[in-house]
Amino acid sequence: MPPARCSIHGTRMEAKLLIIEYGLYRPGGEDQRYWNAREKGFPFTDDPLLGGCIVSECKEAGAYVCRECCAEAQKWITANAPSLKPRTVLRPPYPKP
Ligand SMILES: [Zn+2]
Repeated sequence: MPPARCSIHGTRMEAKLLIIEYGLYRPGGEDQRYWNAREKGFPFTDDPLLGGCIVSECKEAGAYVCRECCAEAQKWITANAPSLKPRTVLRPPYPKP
């Protein structure tokens, strides 16, 4: 299998284990703006995955992560949503392979 590349940056992505966070996701405000910007500009960050309200044994899941996406996400947060805690925004679950 060839290495996955970021569809935005063309960089080679790294397979990483991401933390799964459980709890209710409440879109709105800066979380939602971050999510919208992320979807368009930097989709492959290493944000925790959203596991939903039902807590399972599963604490981590594999996903491809792009370094450029992570850097842009941090830049976006600094510039647009400074009240967001950097790099801790929840996102919908990564699709199962
Ligand atoms: Zn990228």
